[in-house]
Amino acid sequence: MPGFLFSGAPSKAKWQKMASFRLASFSGGKMKVFITISIVFLFLSSTDVFAQDAVQDSASDASAEKDCVPQAEMQAISQTFTQFAELSNAPFCNDGSANWQLLSSLMFMRKTQFSANMPQSKDELFSGKFAKDWYGYFAARLNRLEAAPECAKGIIAFVRPGIKTMHICPMTFTDRYSSVDRATVMMHEARHQDGFPHMTCTRGARKDVHKACDINISDGGSYAVTVETYAQFAKYAEGIHPALKVYSRSAAIIYADEAFENPVRINRSERLLAVTKDSKFYSINSQTGESKQLGAAVALGHIIRRGPHLVIFPEDKSKKAEYIFADGEGRIDQSPSDFVSEYNAQTPEQKAALIDYHIGGQWNAKVFKSSLTMVCDTRAPDVAEVQIPDGKEAISLSYPEGYSRESYRIQLFTSSGDVFDVSCENKKASVTLSTTRLDQKYTRIYRANNVVVGLLDGKLYAVEGSRSVALQTSIDGMITEIVPQQSFEFFNQ
Ligand SMILES: [Zn+2]
Repeated sequence: MPGFLFSGAPSKAKWQKMASFRLASFSGGKMKVFITISIVFLFLSSTDVFAQDAVQDSASDASAEKDCVPQAEMQAISQTFTQFAELSNAPFCNDGSANWQLLSSLMFMRKTQFSANMPQSKDELFSGKFAKDWYGYFAARLNRLEAAPECAKGIIAFVRPGIKTMHICPMTFTDRYSSVDRATVMMHEARHQDGFPHMTCTRGARKDVHKACDINISDGGSYAVTVETYAQFAKYAEGIHPALKVYSRSAAIIYADEAFENPVRINRSERLLAVTKDSKFYSINSQTGESKQLGAAVALGHIIRRGPHLVIFPEDKSKKAEYIFADGEGRIDQSPSDFVSEYNAQTPEQKAALIDYHIGGQWNAKVFKSSLTMVCDTRAPDVAEVQIPDGKEAISLSYPEGYSRESYRIQLFTSSGDVFDVSCENKKASVTLSTTRLDQKYTRIYRANNVVVGLLDGKLYAVEGSRSVALQTSIDGMITEIVPQQSFEFFNQ
């Protein structure tokens, strides 16, 4: 079901109501050898990605009117992208074809409105270097779009130096990608026409991944363009669904944190996000317990992190897992990952078997009652099923060192009170009894802003080794879930 991308009046911008994308509609091009500069996608692991467009809570797709690119726009686009010339004598309406997908992406670049003034950030997230006229920038560097029939794993698009054709891989047209994702891919590839190849990362969440890093964001290479375009969209796009803007903010942060050899300077702070029994979000200072109420939660359940993104797995197993937005931004109709799509297709009974889920930069772990299913290298996915020793039963994953996408080690609580170390270090899956001893059977432990906080019976505790001290809040006894959440000065100003 397609959904509204924009929160403004849809009639003003029918084309912006992007359709779902159908791979089957691709008519092939020729197989190409990938000797190219490409954008590599792996920051989220292969099972773990982008999504489709945002929907308003109240949006319905009942309109019989089709999404169309007006004839005048078809003619303007055809001046550069002559492949569309023979289609430019009429409006082009959504027929689910590759042409529609390419044209609607170009229209997104042409028509997204931004604030008149777009001040740069105080940190390195947004310089504004690429802020003006995305379409003009793109069309000055590329003049042909080709849907590649297939691509190597992890490649979403590519260009060849000096040739003005952008090849777009099938993955880019799946429902894991939104319009803003496709626009950032286009801007990224255009930047390669100015030079700026990538390198293999030597550190961080993308360590050892080919072409997955640039050296400095200040160099203004292709990954810098990716960060800039997501950040610009998140901060300055107008008439856009607020949840999609938060999604874009998180995407900017993932690239900034993971696609550069030298760390990007980002002014940020960290608090705990809590959910209460009455389905409200609160933001809590993990050092003082001071709390602030935010928006309503779509469901009670377990919140997992995917980098800065938050995904809820509801207690009510008839509900779907989805991205959540804590400050009343609404919802987006997209699956956060392939695994979440699989999960959402399951019966409530099947869903109930999953107890927890960890998404690392290049590994993941699914926790079931008596075993874990672990993929220690998402580039070459061998799945390991590891039993929890001694017949212990899983309660939840635990993050006493904080949630980190580059760490290969987390912990697991069991109903007996034993703690296990869960590791994919050296690409080897293991679950072993930990030396960690706790004074209470917590249901969650997270490190946030330098304090290790445990959740037990609706209350929080500051945990220091095997001792703990109550961390008083205004919602004591009401807390059902906690997760650390970062906020970023640029987006909050
Ligand atoms: Zn690239």
